[in-house]
Amino acid sequence: MNLLMIDDDDIDRMSTTRALERSGHVVNITEAKTVEEGLNYQQTEKFDIILLDYQLPSMSGLELLKLFTNSHQQDVAIVMLSNQEDEKIAIECIESGAQDFILKSEVTTSRLIRALLHAKERKRIGEQLRGLAERDTLTGLANRYIFETQLEEAIARAVRYGEGLALLMLDLDKFKEVNDTLGHAVGDKLLIEVAKRLKGPVRGGDLICRLGGDEFAILVHHLDDTSQLRIVSQRILEALSKPIVIDGIEMNVSTSIGIASFPDCATDKVQLMKCADIAMYRAKEKGRNQALYYSRDVHHENLQRLELEHELLSALKNDELTVFYQPIIDGVTEKIVGAEALVRWRHPTKGLLLPEAFIPVAEDIGEIGKIGDWVLDTACAQYTKWEKDHPDLEPTFAITVNLSAQQLKDSRFVDHVKAVLAKYDMRSENLELEVTDSSLVEISEIAASVLRDLSLLGVKLSLDDFGACYSSLSYLQKHPFQILKIDRSFTQSFEKENGKAAVFLKSINAIANVLNIETVAEGIETKAQKHLCQELKFKRMQGFYFAKAMTADDFNSYIQKSSGICKEVKNNE
Ligand code: GH3
Ligand code: MG
Repeated sequence: MNLLMIDDDDIDRMSTTRALERSGHVVNITEAKTVEEGLNYQQTEKFDIILLDYQLPSMSGLELLKLFTNSHQQDVAIVMLSNQEDEKIAIECIESGAQDFILKSEVTTSRLIRALLHAKERKRIGEQLRGLAERDTLTGLANRYIFETQLEEAIARAVRYGEGLALLMLDLDKFKEVNDTLGHAVGDKLLIEVAKRLKGPVRGGDLICRLGGDEFAILVHHLDDTSQLRIVSQRILEALSKPIVIDGIEMNVSTSIGIASFPDCATDKVQLMKCADIAMYRAKEKGRNQALYYSRDVHHENLQRLELEHELLSALKNDELTVFYQPIIDGVTEKIVGAEALVRWRHPTKGLLLPEAFIPVAEDIGEIGKIGDWVLDTACAQYTKWEKDHPDLEPTFAITVNLSAQQLKDSRFVDHVKAVLAKYDMRSENLELEVTDSSLVEISEIAASVLRDLSLLGVKLSLDDFGACYSSLSYLQKHPFQILKIDRSFTQSFEKENGKAAVFLKSINAIANVLNIETVAEGIETKAQKHLCQELKFKRMQGFYFAKAMTADDFNSYIQKSSGICKEVKNNE
């Protein structure tokens, strides 16, 4: 035990020292006669315990106690010694951080040693409790409380010394999916691994915290140059880019990072955190797995986005959403064999918005389910109306409705489809549900069984945008798709690519034929493209060459005008 005794009375110091020596415990005693001497020792040496005389000449016992308890060496236990029997003083000392209070007249070896051992133990327990209160129990990182306290202190220091500092707010991308598909326990292990990986790119003196959930924050001290932040965030993205293996399962994790620096972005704690948060949300909206530095533009974009989110919440209720239909044409007869339902938003000030302008927002705010259900219902109602009004329509005429990846994750979706088919007394084969291949990249068990059940229901499943980015032939093997829609980029590269695209499409068609899968060529804009698709024996065709997506009324006239046969095409030719 390393002990510092601060007492101005030579006799008292001597008798305390003797009492300790008699104890048989190994105690290294350093004696100080004055406050200054004691403080000097404390700054240069590490002590386990300080025995502090309450009545020192230059300072009151309580003031001195506070000076020691507030010093950076917080793991030292302090025992007060006093000549005065005063319960009030004793309580005040304990409340100010002393572990014990002993009357000098009661100092005996056993009383002293007991007090010292108790003091040490209480200090240890106190430290442990403080550790629990300040640490995130899962990852061992500092928690939100420490983060906010240190940020406040760091800002005060930065103001005093004219330094810069920065804040990085991180939120893991699509972390809920890990919990949902692999369970909370795996999610926890992933968070622990992420915490470990964050330590690599961050400097020793900087603070890493887990704010809660999948949110982390990094406090960068002594910032000289904001380019430092680009390097740190890049390293963080790289550190997380390597797959993480948990319980033998390999998974990929990424994060979105928002950065704000002091004093450029904000000069107080709350605003600085807000700026970093705004930048983080923008990074998410821009496609995740990236870092974004807060700026006025970011702020403005964020406001716009919040406004859009707000407006979208009431768009359905206000009847602002509508469904357009684009004809699908038979590859041989050129008759209309179907219509793809495409949602539009008649925005009160921005005009007609295409799905890409608001569907990702709807997915983020959890509105996609409602919107998707409404589109399905509207399209099926429309199908029934056309079927009744146009008896010459092909019996195989089908309505195609796009599904979002999130709808696939809801096992109740199959029942919903069943209910809609029943409501409109519609044959299931006249409904085609379209999924993009990007939404199948991390397909869960639930989504796979939703696809299976939909197929068992007799609904046709269509794989959209095939060839665009993820295109895996294994999707065709694993899931019951009956229709394959080739991405428009292929159709449109016919003229440019010296027949390469045509060779590719021929092969895809050949595979699809063997698997009994119908192929649809999308994005046909010219007569030449149409001819090539017919030469390549695409079952169906779709594109501006035939017609753009149009309102239900216009589609009605379109059917009437072409009376089942696509006369527009003939006229164009
Ligand atoms: P986004 O890219 O938009 O951030 O998507 P996300 O799925 O990551 O969504 P969000 O950040 O909102 O969700 C964080 C999830 O973290 C929500 C909650 O279920 C989960 N979570 C919160 N605390 C814990 C935890 O201690 N352990 C585990 N395993 N999961 C947690
Ligand atoms: Mg997240």
